[in-house]
Amino acid sequence: MITTSASQVNPAERILMGPGPSSVPHRVLRAMGAPTLGHLDPQYLAIMDETCEMLRQVFRTANKLTFPVSGTGMAGMECIATNLLERGDEAIVCVNGVFGSRMKDVMERCGATVHAVEAPWGDIISKEQIAAALDAHPKSKLLAIVHAETSTGALQPLEGLSALCREKGALLVVDAVTSLGGHELRVDDWGIDAIYSGTQKCLSCPPGLSPVSFGDRALAVMDARKTKVQSWYLDVSLLRKYYMNPGAGGGRVYHHTAPINMTYALRESLAILLEEGLDARIERHRIMHLRLRAGLEKLGLSYVPKHSLHTLNCIHAPAGKDEAALRKRLLEEYGIEIGAGLGPMAGKAIRIGLMGHSASQRNVDLVLAALAEILR
Ligand SMILES: *Cc1c(COP(=O)(O)O)cnc(C)c1O
Repeated sequence: MITTSASQVNPAERILMGPGPSSVPHRVLRAMGAPTLGHLDPQYLAIMDETCEMLRQVFRTANKLTFPVSGTGMAGMECIATNLLERGDEAIVCVNGVFGSRMKDVMERCGATVHAVEAPWGDIISKEQIAAALDAHPKSKLLAIVHAETSTGALQPLEGLSALCREKGALLVVDAVTSLGGHELRVDDWGIDAIYSGTQKCLSCPPGLSPVSFGDRALAVMDARKTKVQSWYLDVSLLRKYYMNPGAGGGRVYHHTAPINMTYALRESLAILLEEGLDARIERHRIMHLRLRAGLEKLGLSYVPKHSLHTLNCIHAPAGKDEAALRKRLLEEYGIEIGAGLGPMAGKAIRIGLMGHSASQRNVDLVLAALAEILR
């Protein structure tokens, strides 16, 4: 017997302060409800082009090949890996948390031999380690690194890495899923060759798209491939015939039906971001992080990573408390979602996200008051 009906799908209005998704502004949900257009309708193509242009601004890049991959952040990761790597290639992947480990796994599935550069979870990877890995594996086609490791809350500095990679002819590949729109990130200035992100973290759009950007060096590597990209769905040589504006007289080539209403949502979330201003938004994330941090430390709680993200606060679970019960009470009594520890930190850490729309003084003060009450 069916016991639910469409009219019973009535989710609560949670305050999303976990590792993503973050709370979605009503404006974005409203935009999503606009009439569905055809994916080759000139009106839709104009919206798509505009969305890609806004993504360039947020990535701070002039890369023509900047577009939202259909799928969540993991689709962006797979897209970059499968397009840049061929069977038998070598790659270097920095691993200091869940997402670095996943990149390694994804790139191995592409048939590459992956050399891992490791640091303990919560630490960052040093420039010296990266330089040594590039020296030890000079044939590596790329070096991949996570900017904001959401599993540990560590912020990885990226400046200076591109020079090291270029010296050895390797591409610099970056996971910016939890930094885009929340931390300083400069694709062109920092010489990043390929980058992916997600919509549901600091952009505060529902999950479903993965903004990516490829520079000229990455394009050259893709153009020089000897074999077809293993994934048809994520093959950029096909996707670019749809996403890249061919200019006057050119046509768009159907590949797969673009997620039309998700594009409306992404466009609206980027409009909100650009209205606030990228710099102002990054500063807001910094200020909210400092406010939360001061409050948590007053409660006797301490951070796991030395170099903490502003967008994700990973703290040691309160001594003598059941962290799962704590999270349950936050959700049930206050409607606040926070995240559990992952991997080696399961049961030992909690993660409080301050991403996009969720990074507000109201939310910071509310979660601090709720935690104080629960820990009393
Ligand atoms: C969330 C996240 C991903 C994966 O994104 P999904 O949208 O869950 O597919 C990848 N990398 C990092 C750093 C993330 O935080």
